[in-house]
Amino acid sequence: MIIFLKPQATPEGVQEILTHITSIGLTALTRAGNGSTSIIVIGDEGLLPSVDLKGHSDVEEIKAIRTPYKLVSRETHSHDTVVTVGGVPIGGQRFAVIAGPCSVESHSQMRNTALAVKAAGAVGLRAGAFKPRSSPYAFQGLGLKGLEILRDVGSELAMPVITEVMDTADVDMVAAHAQCLQIGARNMHNSSLLKAVGQLRMPVVLKRGMSAKVEDLLLAAEYILAEGNDQVILCERGIRTFETATRNTLDLNAIPYLKQRTHLPVVVDPSHGTGVRSLVTPMAKAAAACGADGILVEVHENPKVALSDGAQSLDLPGFQRFMQELGPVVRALGREMP
Ligand code: PEP
Ligand code: MN
Repeated sequence: MIIFLKPQATPEGVQEILTHITSIGLTALTRAGNGSTSIIVIGDEGLLPSVDLKGHSDVEEIKAIRTPYKLVSRETHSHDTVVTVGGVPIGGQRFAVIAGPCSVESHSQMRNTALAVKAAGAVGLRAGAFKPRSSPYAFQGLGLKGLEILRDVGSELAMPVITEVMDTADVDMVAAHAQCLQIGARNMHNSSLLKAVGQLRMPVVLKRGMSAKVEDLLLAAEYILAEGNDQVILCERGIRTFETATRNTLDLNAIPYLKQRTHLPVVVDPSHGTGVRSLVTPMAKAAAACGADGILVEVHENPKVALSDGAQSLDLPGFQRFMQELGPVVRALGREMP
């Protein structure tokens, strides 16, 4: 629920309201708007009816939040959130392209790719050191060694680094090597991991599960915000459908749907969304047209020998062409891109 306070509410009155809410076992979050203050009440839904503040002299109005997700909803936060990843704003006027290989394979592979994507205009570097593979026999990532390579290349080239964390036990280690954590599609439903990254005060890219509804994605983000971390970027990366021509079906509907309902930035991953290199650029343009705030894209110096996701990875000249084609579309939509 949201409690709107009267403009003349007194500090003592507000304290009384906060004490009432917390004594029930609920959490009260104070939000100062233009000239007025409101209190968002979250917690066990079964306890909400115990809130008894209708007659309080400092309360103007009490409204239920209609959506099951609360803190990610525009109902509790109307303006767009901009998440800053290592100095790079995601979700504002600038359209962000974050590029890199699916997996960290070696220092030279990471450095060559990073140099090329930076020169072509990417503002962030993506790559996985812990890889959630469908098969236990597939390359699982370099682990800590991969994180060290990523950190070194990112800091040498002054590029913020985004990398996946798969396990709650690894959260602190991964966080110490990156500017932004990624929760992958296979872990979107892992509420322990969501709560663990919610305890941090650093950006998180949350990817939509391959069989998750948009509402599931929003509720997964709610887990992170409910722990106090509001630096969340949502990522549409395609869902499983009956279609087998492509690896996944990129759900373009989800982009404006999410933008209308949540204040969080929304980025799109056309690499996993299609699984097909030749479809990456057209779907990135489509995502921009649908209102995405940026793109996560896989790029490899030699996709033929990539240890994961080579078929959907752009090569280095391919990424340059990708940027040349995407730039005019983004600018025609009134947004900025280098
Ligand atoms: C990735 O980004 O390489 C990845 C594994 O993504 P997803 O979780 O969307 O499959
Ligand atoms: Mn991948």
